[in-house]
Amino acid sequence: MAKTKAYAASAAKAPLAPHTIERRELREHDVVIDIRFCGICHSDIHQARDEWGGATFPMVPGHEIAGIVSAVGPKVTKYKVGDKVGVGCFVDSCRKCTECQAGLEQYCSVHTSWTYNGTEQDGTTPTYGGYSERIVVDENYVLRLPDHLPLDASAPLLCAGITLYSPLKHWAAGPGKKVAIVGLGGLGHMGVKIAHAMGAEVTVLSQSLKKQADAKRLGATHFYATSDPETFTKLERHFDLIINTVSAEMDYNQYLELLKVDGTMVLVGIPEKPHQIQSFSLIMGRRSLAGSAIGGIAETQEMLDFCGKHNIVSDIELVPIQKVNEAYERVLKSDVRYRFVIDMASLS
Ligand code: NAP
Ligand code: ZN
Ligand code: ZN
Repeated sequence: MAKTKAYAASAAKAPLAPHTIERRELREHDVVIDIRFCGICHSDIHQARDEWGGATFPMVPGHEIAGIVSAVGPKVTKYKVGDKVGVGCFVDSCRKCTECQAGLEQYCSVHTSWTYNGTEQDGTTPTYGGYSERIVVDENYVLRLPDHLPLDASAPLLCAGITLYSPLKHWAAGPGKKVAIVGLGGLGHMGVKIAHAMGAEVTVLSQSLKKQADAKRLGATHFYATSDPETFTKLERHFDLIINTVSAEMDYNQYLELLKVDGTMVLVGIPEKPHQIQSFSLIMGRRSLAGSAIGGIAETQEMLDFCGKHNIVSDIELVPIQKVNEAYERVLKSDVRYRFVIDMASLS
């Protein structure tokens, strides 16, 4: 076991503070990754504050991990020391169920080992995330990062990138499709870049007009403020696909009305409280309301290769780990352009 410096929340809503964890001894198929950068996902905040229930502490958040391989187990074939690699939201799964066999490890019906706030496949050993010096992960759950992309701005691809790529691909965003991204935060801004690269016409629906110029630069053709009630009349029956990234409570019915017949709204944001859906919002247009979680390992690699080809990374603000609690507060105020990434060199 190797002692590893980290930052952890000791209890729900406690500020994150320095903490030491143990990383496991290298197993045959394990890769040791020196973590250089880790993105701050809104899910880190939901979980560190136990907004989804069942959180375990101490918690070391972080599932947008980018780093360099520093050691490999004797049977590792996919990676070598010095490789640029990433780890996303999970570090293992049962590998046997129908979902795992289909490359949908994030929906494993037995046990997905989440990168933090979860357990290893033994069901008892807690997992600790990327706000730490290094991580030990089975090579089959490690991703290869495109060599020519900057490592710091690639980190958010591991969660924000795949969370938008997967539904955009599944619901066939592309030429001739009108796609709306609701919420221009970490996930939303990746959605704009990726949907644009896929060839779709992208509209951003944001609370105010503050981010309009940014959205256009990121690849959006249209931008509307949801604080203006006219937005909802102008855009009625307009979109083929809406990806809703909002992390807070809102009226989904209003947004369903913006779908064409047979359109789909995919929820990726995970607010604390449940919602009320009017049957009419769905029925009067044969509309679908769906959800989507990150992506499997193969699809995450496909997304990274797609981003490599299209030179897509996240727009980031680099922060030292000592500023993590401040960064959380700013994310809660939608005051981030567009993802905080922790420079892990600040930990040593
Ligand atoms: P984020 O950076 O905070 O972005 C969320 C955006 O939602 C904000 O930038 C803001 O955009 C909008 N928003 C915030 N509060 C709002 C409100 N009260 N009403 C309307 N809009 C509001 O967060 P993120 O990291 O992108 O994560 C977004 C959500 O997705 C979180 O709930 C997170 O847990 C979840 N998530 C899900 C998955 C998955 O696999 N499904 C993966 C990662 C994260 P504007 O300023 O443009 O209005
Ligand atoms: Zn995330
Ligand atoms: Zn499984």
